[in-house]
Amino acid sequence: MGPFVAHGGRAGTEMNLAHLDWPFFEPRHRELGAALADWSARELTSHDEGDVDAQCRALVRQLGDAGWLRHAVAGSAHGGSGEAIDTRSICLLRETLAWHHGLADFAFAMQGLGSGAISLQGTPEQRARYLPKVANGTAIAAFALSEPNAGSDVAAMGCTARDDGDVYVLDGEKTWISNGGIADFYVVFVRTGEAPGARGITALIVDAGRPGFEIAERIDVVAPHPLARLRFTACRVPKSQRIGAPGEGFKVAMRTLDVFRTSVAAAALGFGRRALHEGLQRASARPMFGQTLGDFQLTQAKLAQMATTIDAGALLTYRAAWQRDQGRNVTREAAMAKMAATEGAQQVIDAAVQLWGGAGVMRGNVVESLYREIRALRIYEGATEVQQLIIGRDLLKEGR
Ligand SMILES: Cc1cc2nc3c(=O)[nH]c(=O)nc-3n(C[C@H](O)[C@H](O)[C@H](O)COP(=O)(O)OP(=O)(O)OC[C@H]3O[C@@H](n4cnc5c(N)ncnc54)[C@H](O)[C@@H]3O)c2cc1C
Repeated sequence: MGPFVAHGGRAGTEMNLAHLDWPFFEPRHRELGAALADWSARELTSHDEGDVDAQCRALVRQLGDAGWLRHAVAGSAHGGSGEAIDTRSICLLRETLAWHHGLADFAFAMQGLGSGAISLQGTPEQRARYLPKVANGTAIAAFALSEPNAGSDVAAMGCTARDDGDVYVLDGEKTWISNGGIADFYVVFVRTGEAPGARGITALIVDAGRPGFEIAERIDVVAPHPLARLRFTACRVPKSQRIGAPGEGFKVAMRTLDVFRTSVAAAALGFGRRALHEGLQRASARPMFGQTLGDFQLTQAKLAQMATTIDAGALLTYRAAWQRDQGRNVTREAAMAKMAATEGAQQVIDAAVQLWGGAGVMRGNVVESLYREIRALRIYEGATEVQQLIIGRDLLKEGR
């Protein structure tokens, strides 16, 4: 496992909170954003490059103890901050956490994504059993949809669950599962075969340690975080662990992703804003040709492009979040936000690395860490090409 570098902890690195004045937010969002920025600057200072599993477990506990994970689940009776997940809140949380510490953002996001199906459609028993522990950080959640041969084409999944009286019997594999290996439970999507394709999939909660369920492989990626391939071999799961109706699992997955897709854009914003911050620091401080780097118009043009790209992505992100919080459909808006913010952040971070020169690719430099962090966001929860298809089809549907 490669080293993980926390971004936080350098004296004088304060996040710019000017966007909290935007009209998308209510006073409670402004309070949340400011309080979290303050907490993150104080608490997320670790530059520990040790065991990523241990770091992640510790971060989940830390976020739970501080109360931030309450925003990742729905239902005040089960530890949630409100009755529904508030999209603007989870976006602000992810943006701020990502600015400070990539793994803290990951820990927060996965508690939400991993338990999202239970928040949205779990039975009262499932909600009471799992959500309070997710909200206080004593249980770690995972979301297991992708397979070796079913990524973008998720309806092609082959992991099966056979009906056997009171239980389902699972056989097959899931891969690229975040928190794989450290999660206490996994929401797993399996083929139950009520109908072909997307209409024959069911969602089940599988607890870690259940006989027939193993971690087949741990996967190492450029920005290390817990990730694994899961294997099920005649794994018996009680039917009481099913979320939603048999054959309705694809809808459960899509509803869950619908909530969290906009938050991926927000995480990209956090990484991008941090890169701009680092780029500005370097441009202001680096002596060059008798001036500083920032005195050159080429540098000013670069900084202008970076800031504009970030604000454009941010406006799309918070429009989608606001619109979803009004109870409106956001299929197109969330896809636009995810595409613009993740692709834009990649360009902004690349520009920040360029401003830092050789130091920008040095292990341990914040921009080097951001350069690795951003890449997967353009792939997971729907690659950019998938978002383009969603937007294009939606436009054509409306135009007809
Ligand atoms: C770090 C990381 C964490 C992840 N965590 C999870 C998790 O917790 N749970 C989970 O279930 N999955 C997770 N995933 C899996 C992720 O959702 C998939 O990687 C993603 O859906 C893409 O699937 P794939 O990797 O099989 O790529 P493929 O489906 O093979 O796609 C490869 C590329 O093809 C292109 N493409 C896709 N569709 C089209 C199209 N229609 N036309 C043209 N080009 C296209 C895109 O550029 C895409 O990147 C994670 C992935 C990563 C990298």
